[in-house]
Amino acid sequence: MSDCLFCRIAAGTVPATIVHSDDDVVAFRDVDPKAPTHVLVTPREHLASAAELTTAHDALWARMLHVAQDVAQADGRSDYRIVVNVGPQAGQSIEHLHLHVLGGRPMDWPPG
Ligand code: AMP
Repeated sequence: MSDCLFCRIAAGTVPATIVHSDDDVVAFRDVDPKAPTHVLVTPREHLASAAELTTAHDALWARMLHVAQDVAQADGRSDYRIVVNVGPQAGQSIEHLHLHVLGGRPMDWPPG
């Protein structure tokens, strides 16, 4: 989608610090990091949120989780948090599915 920020980052028309890119998944550093490691893992396919995932996306979803593992490991993080905000009340501000990979500091539970 031409008006979607994360589609544009995946297409290379908006700059970002890309840490992983393949045919299906792109990962880049969050522009406003909430932890020393804060990477967003996104599918190239435009899905507005995790609520749009179906069984047809099982391989893509698994791939995104494996990329999340890889980017955390590449940053030297053995302990990290994977977050998916679904909908504005849960904190989703960008309507393109993404995993947050956060690490490098102690974290509270439950999240705010
Ligand atoms: P969410 O609130 O779960 O939708 O997460 C969206 C994330 O995208 C936020 O953590 C933002 O800081 C991040 N973000 C917004 N614009 C950009 C951008 N141009 N490059 C990288 N991260 C961004």
